[in-house]
Amino acid sequence: GKGKWKEFDSRDLLISYNALKVLEARYLLKDPNTLRYIETPQMMFRRVARHIANVEKLYGKDEKQVKEIEDKLYEMMSNLKFIPNTPALMNSGTRLGILSACFVIPVRDAMSTPNGDGIYDALRAMALVHQQGGGTGFDFSELRPKGDIVASTAGVASGPVSFMRIFDVSTDVVKQGGKRRGANMGVMHAWHADVQDFIRAKTGELRDTHLQNFNISVGVYDYFMNAVERGEAVPLINPRKTRIPGKDWDYYMTNARGYMHDESVQEYILKELEEKGGSVYLDESRIITVDEALVIAEKENAIVQWVNARQLFDEIVKGAWDSGDPGLLFIDEINRRHPVWYIGKINATNPCGEEPLLPWESCNLGSISLEKFVVEKDGKMSIDWDGLVEAIKYGVRFLDNVIDANRYPLKQIEEATKKTRKVGLGVMGLARMLIKLGIPYDSVDALYISYQLAKFIYYHALKTSIDLAKEKGSFPAYDPYYYHDIWESARDFGSLLEVSNIKDKPSDYVKKLTEVVDRLDFSLLKEERIKFGLRNSTVVSVAPTGTISIIAGTSSSIEPLFALAFVRNVAVGKFIEIDPLFLEYLRKYELDDPEVVQKIAETGTVAENPFIPRTMKKLFRTAHEVPPEYHVLHQAMWQQWNDSGTSKTINLKSEEPPETVEKVYMLAWKLGIKGVTVYRDRSKSQQVIYFGIKK
Ligand code: UDP
Repeated sequence: GKGKWKEFDSRDLLISYNALKVLEARYLLKDPNTLRYIETPQMMFRRVARHIANVEKLYGKDEKQVKEIEDKLYEMMSNLKFIPNTPALMNSGTRLGILSACFVIPVRDAMSTPNGDGIYDALRAMALVHQQGGGTGFDFSELRPKGDIVASTAGVASGPVSFMRIFDVSTDVVKQGGKRRGANMGVMHAWHADVQDFIRAKTGELRDTHLQNFNISVGVYDYFMNAVERGEAVPLINPRKTRIPGKDWDYYMTNARGYMHDESVQEYILKELEEKGGSVYLDESRIITVDEALVIAEKENAIVQWVNARQLFDEIVKGAWDSGDPGLLFIDEINRRHPVWYIGKINATNPCGEEPLLPWESCNLGSISLEKFVVEKDGKMSIDWDGLVEAIKYGVRFLDNVIDANRYPLKQIEEATKKTRKVGLGVMGLARMLIKLGIPYDSVDALYISYQLAKFIYYHALKTSIDLAKEKGSFPAYDPYYYHDIWESARDFGSLLEVSNIKDKPSDYVKKLTEVVDRLDFSLLKEERIKFGLRNSTVVSVAPTGTISIIAGTSSSIEPLFALAFVRNVAVGKFIEIDPLFLEYLRKYELDDPEVVQKIAETGTVAENPFIPRTMKKLFRTAHEVPPEYHVLHQAMWQQWNDSGTSKTINLKSEEPPETVEKVYMLAWKLGIKGVTVYRDRSKSQQVIYFGIKK
């Protein structure tokens, strides 16, 4: 009808040229025979909204109610206020059934197992996930080290790093149907006998050639980081030789760290293990210490070597400085703040780190475009908190429905995912929101806004999940007593600043702007949670929003602007982009002169430009001009109020020395971040984004 066309016409005008190019290249459906497009962007949003809203029928809603929800979901997407992760946009309502972006697949020390979790089972699982646009993470720490014996063939093991190469090649071959290349996270824990090979797997001579479809991260524990600080030795372990069948050294180390917060929790674990006849957490009926674990490992002959933790750490830092890999995953922090810690230990994350997941779990993401919630009120810029609440409410409902709408490629993935029902509502456009509010990214005020926004979003996401539990029931693994309320361990703003020695205080302006956040009462929410249950074991997550931020026409995730003008290299071609907000400012100061613009485009920044006023220079500081500690601090602010992970790239200038990487990694640990990645400009031959136009 006519009304429908009107809707398509006006909403499509919100879509930028670059967004349209991306949509056209990969998202809009085509007729497989004629290869002609069969939908517009608005039709795509409709297709997705309908598919996701239809799930409500499973929960007894009638046609009218379902349609109302569909309209809400459509509104949110078509206004570019909320966009789900790529697989949900591409695959909803099509033959392909995966709508989630994040997966973790276990890899046991066997070629293949009846449970389907041996090395080649994992490889197959990976291919199935990649085919449909998902990203996969693996912990390779259970594999016996290089040179170890293989009993069945009396041969010699090739070790985890060489097995990773097979995963890498397979990723190349599958290439996700030509639409999206598979992404992987490879993890090895710092205690593994092959960890030195792992650390070097992508650097030096191997840079730009090896494991190109992998991000790699070393899983480190607090005991390890403490040993680094003190220059102490740590053991490297052969996991095959540890006493507990099918398990590893990891369990000792983890539990020795004692993130079993209190005695009642320890009691619970003891009881559980007694009932199940297991003993992995225990030695002689109690949780053991690191020292005790060492004694056991020594008796077992499982210690291959002692190395200086400091040296190992320096190697990690050198690698990261040289090539961006490896990053770190802080395994203790991840598990300490995992709400459903009682059903297992997390050893890995998805490719970009925003989802620490149990073996076989998957998670779907969606992000709110923050800049859409900056409004002018009485001549001043302010934040539309009510609008934000609405977006959070429907965002979480959307993501929860995705769990039911998904067609899972393997039954293990379906079971693990439906047991915990993890969803990850995130954000994009933080940098542009800050610019609209007139706040430079590298300021205490900006950090404060991050902190307050994260808290607000987490609160309302959690509240929505409680409301959804009333309506549809709790996630099956929910235990009202053992569920861990991570907000109870969120650090306050001041103490985070103290860690990094920043003395400034937030201004009255930002305090006033966010005072609604101070009135939130999490303890009331806890009462409700205990009474009514909870629909999702995690509710928020900060994803990189690499593509969906282009679709939404905003800055990605919680990152500062990357450049004011740049060339973006993506699978489908080269894009030249000039930040439209920046252009607006140039116009305001009457600086939109072609010559000035050309000059800026050549470098991507205005730092050295004599024509640009100082306030504007401050406001438009780009990723490499923002001091590294502000990158890390923003990540820490968002991680405090986040029950899963926060993806962030700590972008460094090309000339930063290795010491900067070291400082960043240490600071990240001290600030309670779950994982950290650095990227020094130009340290890879192929990078997605280059500065300036003249490259
Ligand atoms: N991802 C992937 N391949 C890609 C980009 C992303 O598999 O080329 C997965 C990966 O798990 C990543 C997650 O999608 O962590 C989210 O990435 P992002 O937010 O950039 O995805 P978008 O939804 O914007 O495409």
